[in-house]
Formats: sequence, C-alpha cells, structure tokens
Amino acid sequence: MFDRNLVDIDVLIEEINAVLPQIQCRQCGFAGCKPYAVAITKGLADINQCPPGDEEGVQKLAKIMGVKPKSLNIFYGMSKPRLIAQIDEQICIGCTFCIQACPVDAIIGATKQMHTVISLECTGCELCIAPCPIDCITMIPPKKEINNMQHDPYRVNHTSSLGTNVEKKKAADYAKKRYEFRLQRMNHTKID
Ligand code: SF4
Ligand code: SF4
Ligand code: SF4
Repeated sequence: MFDRNLVDIDVLIEEINAVLPQIQCRQCGFAGCKPYAVAITKGLADINQCPPGDEEGVQKLAKIMGVKPKSLNIFYGMSKPRLIAQIDEQICIGCTFCIQACPVDAIIGATKQMHTVISLECTGCELCIAPCPIDCITMIPPKKEINNMQHDPYRVNHTSSLGTNVEKKKAADYAKKRYEFRLQRMNHTKID
C-alpha cells in the first residue's frame, strides 16, 4: 500500500501532474490537471478519472501511487480523438465569454469584436462551448497541415494512440506552461 508520508507531497503532486495530458478539460471533476493531481494525493480522487489520459494514463498513475492498475472510469467520459475549437466569425457577437472560459488563452478578440481560436494553442478542452450564447463554436479535426508543422506542439493526437509518447509529452508540457501562465496572469489581475 502506498504510504504518502514517505514522500514529499509536493514532489508527488508534480510527478502526477507530469503524466497528466494537460488538456485542462475538467472532466475529472476538478478545476484542471494540477488540482486533480492534488486531489489524488489527498485521497479525494481515484487514479482513473481522466478520460484524455485514457488507460495508459491510469496505468502511469497506478505506478506512481503504488496501487493496483484499474480501468478508466467511464463515468467521467471516454477517450476520443483530439478536436480543436473553431469560431464562426461571421456570427460571433464579441461577448468574450469564451475567452474567459479558455484555460490556456487560446482565443483572441476584444469586446464586441470578432473572436478567433489560435489552433496551435487549443487543447480541445471544449470549455468554451457552453458559455457561448449563440452557439457559434464547434469542435473540428485539426487541419492536416497544422498537424504536420514541425513547430506545432499539438501535432500529435492528445487522446488516441496516434503520435509517439515523446510528442504527447511535448504537447502536454506546452499546454501546462500556458495554463500556469494564465493562472499567474489572473492572480496578478486580482492583486492589481
Ligand atoms: S486532462 Fe482533463 S480530465 Fe485529465 S486531469 Fe486534466 S483536467 Fe482532468
Ligand atoms: S479554445 Fe476552447 S476548446 Fe480550445 S483550449 Fe480554449 S476553451 Fe478549450
Ligand atoms: S462566446 Fe461566442 S459569441 Fe461570445 S465572443 Fe466567444 S465565440 Fe463570440
């Protein structure tokens, strides 16, 4: 049985967070990958609640936590191929709700102006869909040329067996940085 007293809890949280896919979709029931990692260490979440991580992710978490491997709990959702958000710019009313919802700052636009998704930054979390009052955001497969671009951190499919583990890790690390940057920016805004 895993004895969490034997390890530094912060190190453990980082170790768990490092194997999470960093989609920041909240399907696990927490406000992002790191909060889920924290919840696991506190015994508030099980290791099989992350659909984008799929079975492979659950096995990694089992290894880190020193517990028996188990199957993904489909109550939290199923693994699926990565899609990215696209805004119908002709009908967008510029309300900014989608910008506020995006965990990795992948949407640009200003109040009452057209909004656009930066495809290379979108993790496909789908958090921008529900807040849009006119349903002008849809999820679409990433364009082939985007997937093939060498500098594209998301040229792998986050959630399927496509792409090497190295590519998946690269994409996750990039999304993690953008998520952390956004949190920092929001904290600064609160203080200022
Ligand atoms: S990818 Fe989504 S479901 Fe998985 S840990 Fe991160 S926020 Fe939770
Ligand atoms: S644009 Fe939408 S789907 Fe893409 S990361 Fe932002 S909130 Fe998620
Ligand atoms: S939530 Fe919808 S209408 Fe509002 S800015 Fe975003 S895309 Fe445009």
